[in-house]
Amino acid sequence: MAGKKGVRLVVTMSCTECKERNYLTEKNKRNDPGRIELNKFCRRCRKHTLHREVR
Ligand SMILES: [Zn+2]
Repeated sequence: MAGKKGVRLVVTMSCTECKERNYLTEKNKRNDPGRIELNKFCRRCRKHTLHREVR
């Protein structure tokens, strides 16, 4: 995509319980300077767990 650069970043979200990498998401570096955490459904755990950004 052409245009503005830099602020949107694709990050991988991994389950904090089983460490499975379940989701890709985008974050805005200005809004989320640190690691982001989201409650998402984990297929391996079969429940909603906390997912944390991995690098
Ligand atoms: Zn899990």
